Amino acid sequence: MLVSATEMLKKAKAGKYAVGQFNINNLEWTKAVLLTAQELNSPVILGVSEGAGKYMTGFKTVAAMVKAMDESLGITVPVALHLDHGTYEGAKACVEAGFTSIMFDGSHFPLEENIAKSKEIIELCHSKGISVECEVGTIGGEEDGVIGAGEVADPEECKMIADLGVDMLAAGIGNIHGVYPANWAGLNFEALDAIQQKTGIMPLVLHGGTGIPDDMIKKAVTLGVSKINVNTECQLVFAEATRAYIEAGKDQQGKGFDPRKLLAPGTEAIKAKVKEKMELFGSVGQA
Ligand SMILES: [Zn+2]
Repeated sequence: MLVSATEMLKKAKAGKYAVGQFNINNLEWTKAVLLTAQELNSPVILGVSEGAGKYMTGFKTVAAMVKAMDESLGITVPVALHLDHGTYEGAKACVEAGFTSIMFDGSHFPLEENIAKSKEIIELCHSKGISVECEVGTIGGEEDGVIGAGEVADPEECKMIADLGVDMLAAGIGNIHGVYPANWAGLNFEALDAIQQKTGIMPLVLHGGTGIPDDMIKKAVTLGVSKINVNTECQLVFAEATRAYIEAGKDQQGKGFDPRKLLAPGTEAIKAKVKEKMELFGSVGQA
């Protein structure tokens, strides 16, 4: 059932668990995530980056596919279709296309401009019942080079964005996009606690979920993280399972070249990874 992320995240914050955002890239990805959420009776957020949106030929294609698949599979758990790290233009395009949740990432703008643009996007989205995520400070990543500690957001700035009426807030607490470097310093729980104290019941979002140790994830959830983004990890297991299939020569046996067979191990691997994450985040049975 396609819905905004507002209610599922309020419930998650109150119930001290987190809802997973799993980024999708194609039909197999979408099917794997939806079926697993339904099987585990868990709410779920489908993340779509602007790059993935372009790859799938546009946000309209994505929205039409997700809406139709949600109906065809008879999905009854809450599902939000969410733009990940949206630009100002991308956010508006996704509102038009029928997304139910939008992340506007104005973190690279000066604070005043981030606030002004975030405010505008929040008003537009809320007039249509769409939930909004904004970002304060930046979240480190591969593009920034290998660094041992990710960015940490300023709690006062977090409060300023939270006060705009945003539904969820992404703030750097030492997390990094992509694979974590060996010298990573870990999550900064003092910063997370300070942000949570300033922003109260606001659900906080943890980006860069791949490679954060399970005990740190659990602690972050107890300190107010209600949404955790998973992207790279599903890509890694999909590639690994596909490689194993081909290396075993299965694509050359019988009709093993059939894409429905060739992509099946990768799809199953995504399902297993999503299940593992939902169990870790505590969202199983919370739909
Ligand atoms: Zn992110």
